[in-house]
Amino acid sequence: MKKTILALLITWGSLSQVSWAQSYSIVIKGGHVIDPKNNIDGVMDVAITNGKIVSVAKNIDGKKAVQTVDAKGLYVTPGLIDIHSHNFWGTQPDHQYENGNLALPPDGFTFRNGVTTVVDAGSSGWRTFATFKAQTIDQSQTRVLAFINIVGEGMRGGYEQNLNDMDSRMSALIARQYKNYVVGFKVAHFEGHDWSPVDRAVEAGKMAGNIPVMVDFGGSNPPLPIEELFMKHLRPGDIFTHCFGQLATREYIVDINTQKVKPFVWEARKKGIFFDVGYGGISFAYSQAIPAAKEGFFPSSISTDIHVGSMNAAMKDMLTTMSKFLAIGMDLKSVIQASTSNPAQEIKHEELGNLSVGADADVAILNLRDGKFGLFDYTGYKVEAKKKLECEMTIRAGKIVYDLNGIATPIIPPKTTNEH
Ligand SMILES: [Zn+2]
Repeated sequence: MKKTILALLITWGSLSQVSWAQSYSIVIKGGHVIDPKNNIDGVMDVAITNGKIVSVAKNIDGKKAVQTVDAKGLYVTPGLIDIHSHNFWGTQPDHQYENGNLALPPDGFTFRNGVTTVVDAGSSGWRTFATFKAQTIDQSQTRVLAFINIVGEGMRGGYEQNLNDMDSRMSALIARQYKNYVVGFKVAHFEGHDWSPVDRAVEAGKMAGNIPVMVDFGGSNPPLPIEELFMKHLRPGDIFTHCFGQLATREYIVDINTQKVKPFVWEARKKGIFFDVGYGGISFAYSQAIPAAKEGFFPSSISTDIHVGSMNAAMKDMLTTMSKFLAIGMDLKSVIQASTSNPAQEIKHEELGNLSVGADADVAILNLRDGKFGLFDYTGYKVEAKKKLECEMTIRAGKIVYDLNGIATPIIPPKTTNEH
C-alpha cells in the first residue's frame, strides 16, 4: 500500500514536472545573450515561466510558449541595475530630491531603458524612508531599493549640512527594519573639511550588519585627501560614486598633469573599494574617464544619478551612459557586467543581475545601433560614436513592460493605467 502511494507520488511529481517544462510564458528566440555572471556570451534562447528564468539554451521550442520574442540581431541581457538614481518624487515645495520635484517616478524612465532595478541614492533618510516606501517603492513595477542618507531628513537642500541630523544609530535601526529594501547608506553634498559624515555612515553600515556606504564626497576647501578616504575611512565593499568627476572642491582619481590614475587608486581597488560612475549633472568628465580608460581603469558599476536636471543635460539615460563607455574603449561584455552583475554584487543582492535558472525574469533586449552619435559631457567635450545602445524590450518579473517595435508574437501591449 505504502509502495503504491509512493509510486503514485513519483508519477504525479514527474508528470507535473514534464507539463511545467513543456509550457513557457515567453521564449526569446535567436538573440545574442550576454550574461556575465554565468559567463554566457553567444546566440541562445531564453525561456520564462511564472516570472522566472527556466532555461537558457540553444533551440528552445517557441511553439511551447504563449508568446515568442524575435531577438535576432539583438542582445539579450539581464535587466539593468542602476545603483544611483533619485526617485523620491513628490510635491513638497523646496524639498528638492526628498519628496520634491527634482526626483523622478521610476517606471516612466526605467523600462524604456532596459532598467528593471534602481537603487535610490540617499534621497530619503531614516526620518523620511517610510514615506518614500509608501509613495514610491510600493507603487512601482520597477524594483526600487535604497541607500538611505546619513542625514535623517534626506536630500532636502540645506538640511544636508546639518551634522546634528546624522545619526548612525537611528539610520542603522531603520535599515534593519526595512532590510529587504535598504541596501546601505549614502553620504552626499556635505560642504566642509570634516570626516564626520563619512565616519557616521560607515558606523551605521557596521551597526546594520556590515552593509555598504556610497560616498558622494561633497566639497571641501582645501579638498580632503581621497587616499585617506579610501585607505583609512572606508571599508572593502564601500562605493565611491561620481568617480570620474573633476570638480575644484574635491580631489579626483586621475592626475591631470601625468594623465595617469593615481597609484593609490589602484591600491584602493585592490582593497575592495568600488568605483561607481554616478554620472549626474556635473559628476562625469571625459578629462578623467578617457585617461583612466587608456590605462584600463574602468568603473566597477555604471550608474546615472538620474534626476530632472541630469536627464535633460549631457547624461540623458542609462543606455547613453553605457554607450559612452563603449565609445572610450570598454568592451560590450564589460559594459553589461558593470550594469548588471557588478552592481548586484556591490549592493549584496547577488540574486539579481543575471539570467540563472530560477532567477526573477528581469531581462533587457538591446539594439547596438549603427549611426553617427555625438556623446558629449557637461563641459561640451564630444566623442563621435558609431554605435549606441537602444532598448528594444524590457521584461520585469516575466512580464513584457516595454516593447519598442512590437517584436513579441502575439503583441500584448503593456497595460496603460487609464483610458486616456
Ligand atoms: Zn545623486
